[in-house]
Amino acid sequence: MKRSTSLDRVRRSKTIFDIVIIGGGASGLGAAVDAAARGHSVALFEQADFAKGTSSRSTKLVHGGVRYLQQGNISLVLEALRERGRLTQNAPHLVHSQSFVIPNYSWWEGPFYGIGMKVYDQLAGKLGLSPSRHLSRKETIELIPTLEQKNLVGGVIYHDGQFDDSRLAVNLAQTAEALGAATLNYCRCVGLTKENKAVSGVQIHDLENDTNFTVRAKTVINATGVFVDELRQLDQASAQAIISVSQGIHIVLPKSFLPGDAAIMIPKTADGRVLFAVPWHDHVIVGTTDTPLNTRSLEPRALKEERDFVLTHACKYLAKDPKPADVLCIFAGLRPLVKAGDGTDTAALSRDHSIIISESGLITLTGGKWTTYRKMAEDVIDQAETLGGLDHQRCQTEDMQIHGWTRAKIAQPNLKTYGADALQIQELLKDAPELSEKIHPNLPYQKVEVVWHAREEMARTVEDVLARRTRALLLNAKVSIEAAPTVAAILAKELGRDAGWERQQIESYTALAKGYIYPSD
Ligand SMILES: Cc1cc2nc3c(=O)[nH]c(=O)nc-3n(C[C@H](O)[C@H](O)[C@H](O)COP(=O)(O)OP(=O)(O)OC[C@H]3O[C@@H](n4cnc5c(N)ncnc54)[C@H](O)[C@@H]3O)c2cc1C
Repeated sequence: MKRSTSLDRVRRSKTIFDIVIIGGGASGLGAAVDAAARGHSVALFEQADFAKGTSSRSTKLVHGGVRYLQQGNISLVLEALRERGRLTQNAPHLVHSQSFVIPNYSWWEGPFYGIGMKVYDQLAGKLGLSPSRHLSRKETIELIPTLEQKNLVGGVIYHDGQFDDSRLAVNLAQTAEALGAATLNYCRCVGLTKENKAVSGVQIHDLENDTNFTVRAKTVINATGVFVDELRQLDQASAQAIISVSQGIHIVLPKSFLPGDAAIMIPKTADGRVLFAVPWHDHVIVGTTDTPLNTRSLEPRALKEERDFVLTHACKYLAKDPKPADVLCIFAGLRPLVKAGDGTDTAALSRDHSIIISESGLITLTGGKWTTYRKMAEDVIDQAETLGGLDHQRCQTEDMQIHGWTRAKIAQPNLKTYGADALQIQELLKDAPELSEKIHPNLPYQKVEVVWHAREEMARTVEDVLARRTRALLLNAKVSIEAAPTVAAILAKELGRDAGWERQQIESYTALAKGYIYPSD
């Protein structure tokens, strides 16, 4: 996947693309894969890096949503469970079954959650992972030795999927490219072109080369997450805002706080929220919150009350209380929720996806979740075919393997998420054994991975490598800053950049990563 090749294709192309997609998160990348797999010509433009927005900041669950079951939203749960099963089969290198324990501190919670999880199992049908069951107090403690044991009466165990969100995004971009799409990062859509009042293309600013160009399209899909209203207003200045933003934050702790394989799921905290503590890449992710915000940013930051909520509740359910100094990273993400009513209570807003078509034919895809990205893509491309007068083709993605697909066990832990690419990464070491060194003694990643990111995964900056190709930023923000010079030097060599670029990269990465360190106030 080479940026210059894709750029040449979209800039030189005289043809009119069947479908142009704006936004390189789960929604946009999923749509690119679906459209390209049906044989349509596709170009996708992302203003920053793939998954720079919400799609790298999730809880990393491929799930039906136990919370939506509580709300009685059976159709949403059913669709998500179906998609959970498909994604587990289509990207086994990135998605695995994760056990969750709901600890019970009152006598009634056992039967209540036990029955609820049996319904969850039933809904999953033959795509179910493993059946849920009751746990005695002893079994609960065996599975989660660090669980708060005061008043514990037992638990319920169930299974959901877990994945690496930004790695899946990169693999989707690779899948789309292999199917003939051009997917470009660092290309911002700054305007829409129109013919006879209908959208006929997009104006793109290439941030790397500081140039503008226009691409013609039969249909344009707006998949810009919490920014969809900005693009809708580029289309029509008077367009009403359709999105409410809700922020969710997570903290990352060392594995010692949850040493086993099982995760903790608290369906209802004292103030009615859902809380997860989940093992991930040999660390623990704890979250999340649901805080309505009036602002939107590509780099959201946790509010003090959100930090306090997550840390206080982590202390409540873990025997050893995590202190601020134990927090290795704190990250925030923004949910794009489609407005309903007065839009003040985000927990009640639609988590389902929406497709909205403007008068000029701009198609906006928003809402939903990572788990259902494939179905969202199928629905939006069905619409795009009709609107663009394209040949109707059957969706191909239900059982389509995603780039990296393999069922082979990859022994080297840091190469597991590359799936089938792990072999090719190891091949690179034959000519350059010195690249087997780690990028930092306290991180699992090797220098050879950075070379691979630059050559095959369109990594353009130190942040692309440390935040999304590897997950160093999330696993340990401070240590990732120390790794930045090594990464910058490898990237500079691979991308033909000078010492000034290297310095600037280290500075800007350091400034960014400081925002992921738990504040000392
Ligand atoms: C805290 C939190 C936890 C979550 N946990 C889960 C979970 O565990 N499981 C799950 O299934 N779902 C989860 N979700 C939901 C899921 O992450 C989102 O539904 C999904 O990532 C949204 O993807 P998207 O592509 O619509 O938006 P985004 O990922 O935000 O992508 C939009 C992209 O558009 C780009 N863009 C914006 N404007 C322009 C422009 N003018 N030109 C070019 N590009 C532009 C942005 O840079 C951005 O990269 C969670 C969400 C949050 C907030």
